[in-house]
Order: sequence, then structure tokens, then C-alpha cells
Amino acid sequence: MKRKLSCQGRGEFFKGPIMSIPTVAVFHYSLKDKDGNLIDDSKGRDPLHVMLGKGHIVKGLDEALPNMKAGVKKTITVSPEDGYGVVDESLRLKVPRDQFPPDADIQLKMQFQTSQEPGAPLFTVMHIDEDGLIYIDGNHPLAGHELHFDVEIVEMRPADPEEIAHGHAHAPGGHDH
Ligand SMILES: [Zn+2]
Repeated sequence: MKRKLSCQGRGEFFKGPIMSIPTVAVFHYSLKDKDGNLIDDSKGRDPLHVMLGKGHIVKGLDEALPNMKAGVKKTITVSPEDGYGVVDESLRLKVPRDQFPPDADIQLKMQFQTSQEPGAPLFTVMHIDEDGLIYIDGNHPLAGHELHFDVEIVEMRPADPEEIAHGHAHAPGGHDH
């Protein structure tokens, strides 16, 4: 006759609140826009190591990866809302040249911030017209874009104690902070 496992003492094992251990996804990816143009990929590089559920990658990908297993290849389509956001027209501005410091060398595609505050938008110079008006855009370059990630999962593993303490994943040998 099998003995039933005793339930005595149940509930005393956990002294504090139960914390779930975050998952680290190790994966290769390529990112294309909806027309199939390649934006970025991890080809020829080490795979990405990402602690999931921390907002370290775009929401649509962060939410899709936990359901995947090592070895799986999948295309994940991410809407702008779950990607780099929708375009905010109020961040597209025309600024007279004299609003910039006189010694600033304003070039096309140049990027700058107007404030030191964390999360302040990064503006890109999009166009400089003949009258000296400068068109700048504070949207993420991929705002408004549907993103297509081709993902190949290399490994799914629990975060180690050091990663949990730091709040991010460490690539092997890549820990330099
Ligand atoms: Zn770290």
C-alpha cells in the first residue's frame, strides 16, 4: 500500500511572498517591416539574451516569447501599439534655425535631446529647408510601423540569482558592469 504524502507543515516552506523566477529567452531574430525590408537582425552575432516581462524589448515580442520553446522558429507580427508606438504628430516640429544654439552644426539625420530628463524624446533632423526652417521628429524611427520578427529560440532558461538581482539577463562572458 502506498503511503500518502503527508501534508503536515504545508504552507510553512515559504516564509515570504512567493516570487516567480523570471525567464531568460536566448534567441536570434530578424526584424522586417511589413513590406519585407530588413531593419535589423542578429545574423553573425551572438543571440540576444533577454529577461522577459521587464519591458526590455517591445511589448508584442515580450508577450509572445514566453509561450515558445527552444528550437522553435516563428514569425511574430507586432502592431505599432505593441511595438514602438503610433506616430505622435505633436513631436513633428518645424523650428527656426535661430532656436538652436548659434554654434550648433545642424546636419540631416542628426539626433539630439531637448532635455536631460529620462525618457525625453530623441529628435532627429529630417529636413532643412532653404529658409532655414528645420524639420525635426521626436518619434522613434519605427513608430507607426508594423514589425515582423522572425525569431529562432536558442534557449529558454530561468534567470540566475545575479541576473535577478540586476534585473536583466547576462550573456555568457558579456557581464562587464
Ligand atoms: Zn548585470
